[in-house]
Formats: sequence, C-alpha cells, structure tokens
Amino acid sequence: MTRLTRRAALAGAAALPLVAAATQTRAAAPMMGAGSAPYNRFTLGDLEVTTILAGSRAVPDPQTIFGMNVSAEEFKGAADAAHLPIDQAQFFFTPTVVNTGSELVLFDTGLSAANTTAALAAAGYTPDMVDIVVITHMHGDHIGGLMHDGAPTYPNARYVTGSAEYNFWGEAGNDTFEAQMRPLAEQTTFIEGGTDVVSGITSMDAFGHTPGHMGYLLDSGGKQLLVGADFTNHYVWSLAYPDWEVKFDMDKEKAAETRRSVLNMLASEKMPMIGYHMPWPGVGYVDTRGDGFHYVPQSYQLML
Ligand SMILES: [Zn+2]
Repeated sequence: MTRLTRRAALAGAAALPLVAAATQTRAAAPMMGAGSAPYNRFTLGDLEVTTILAGSRAVPDPQTIFGMNVSAEEFKGAADAAHLPIDQAQFFFTPTVVNTGSELVLFDTGLSAANTTAALAAAGYTPDMVDIVVITHMHGDHIGGLMHDGAPTYPNARYVTGSAEYNFWGEAGNDTFEAQMRPLAEQTTFIEGGTDVVSGITSMDAFGHTPGHMGYLLDSGGKQLLVGADFTNHYVWSLAYPDWEVKFDMDKEKAAETRRSVLNMLASEKMPMIGYHMPWPGVGYVDTRGDGFHYVPQSYQLML
C-alpha cells in the first residue's frame, strides 16, 4: 500500500515544469480574495426561503463572548476538538426572506440598511417588494436596518414583533431602539408566541437571549423549518455546550434553558433551522451528542 506523504506530494508537484512553461505567455489572473454569493435560496413546500448575508467579520477573543463561565483550558480543549482557533471567531449576520407567493416577509434587518439591501438586490429583491418585516428581537444587529436616513428602509412594509420584546426595549432608554424601532410603532403588530404572522409562519417564544426573543416556525407542504434567530449563537460553543454563558444573553439561565429545549425539539423532530449567526449560509440540522448537541450544515436535503 502506498502512503501519500507531504514530501511525496510536493515531489509530484515539482515534476510538472512543462505544464508551467506552457502557461507562461498568459497574463496572470488577478487575486480576487475570498468570496461567495450573498444569498442562498431553497424551497420549503410552497415557500421560497432565502438567507441573506448582511455582514461577516472576524471578532477577537471569542471566550470573552461564548465561554464566560469555563476555564481557558476547557475552552481551548473544545476549540481544538472542533478545529477552531481561540484567538478569533468569524461572525455572520443573516436575515431571512420568505416568499409565500402572496407576501414577501423579511426576518430581521442587519446592522445597517445598506448591507442588507445590497444582499437583497443580489437575491433579486428591491426594498419596496417587502410586505412584512418581522423582528425576532431588538438587538442592534437585527433592527439596525429598519430605518435609513430617517425614513423606513422598506417603504411598503408593515411590521410584526413580540409585545414582550417591544415593551422591554420601550422602557430601556436604548438609542438604537429609539432611532430604528419606535418610529415604526404605528405600523407594527404586536404578537405573543403561537401567533400566525401569515398562513404557514407561526411565532414561538424563545425567551432568554432577550426578554421577548421569538423564533418563527415555517410550515408548508408537510415540511417545517425554524427561523431560530439568536436562541443559539455559535455552531459549536452554543450547541455542544448549551450551558456555557454567552455575553449577549441577557438572562443567562433562561437562555440556556431555552437553548436546550429548542435544540431538543429540533433534534427530535429532525427539523432544519436557520440561525442568524450560524456559519453562512446559516441553514442546518441538530443532532444530540453526549450531554449537548451537534450542528450539521444543510448539504442538499433542501434542494430535493
Ligand atoms: Zn444577533
């Protein structure tokens, strides 16, 4: 049996000078940097579901965000086991668009209007096409794109959000809320868990990350999917270790309890989820693994 070593592979590459010589007269192609399309569309029954990449960036020192109540050794062990570095993590910001055939529904609006509308444009949508904007919760990376230059970014939209969430931020004295959400109050419908936004889209309480954070269950043609927003925020550190304290969870105990119960539901139902901060394109399945869970990115299941 031949063992392919790194040395043998390099020696093989060195044995190709004729190929290199033959291409020398051609101009070098420019280096383009990493890239992919900022949208990902699939169907779920009669619904068209599109995830939109409204932003992505590297963030230093992830343990200060995701492993606040564990030792540095435990955090490093978990990172090593998942082939992840500990000095930085890549963050993703992923609104979702659902076309029911009669309404275009946008879930969350990104950090700013410009990035989200650019990604929407790549997916074929203009802001005036959006009929309903659903806000899962009122952190700045979800409501930051509601308004633009003092006007609504989505001029024909009405808004839907949880009443508990709105009431909390309404009394919090939060600048982003006051600039982005409060101006739209008159066009907003306030709901509780278990409410149909439109046929096939139902709210689900997932409190803890924020006081009124909600996910949304899509149901069409016998297929279900959870638009989960921020009930779980890292594909390894929040799933494998659901009790690790997360900086952005406002009620850490309640957030951990919600995380376990929603992840259990997804695993037992074999239901796919969209996570706002899961690795792009943000769609995956959940398995139980030991005392925690394991994220399985969608491959082709939703193409079929
Ligand atoms: Zn978020």
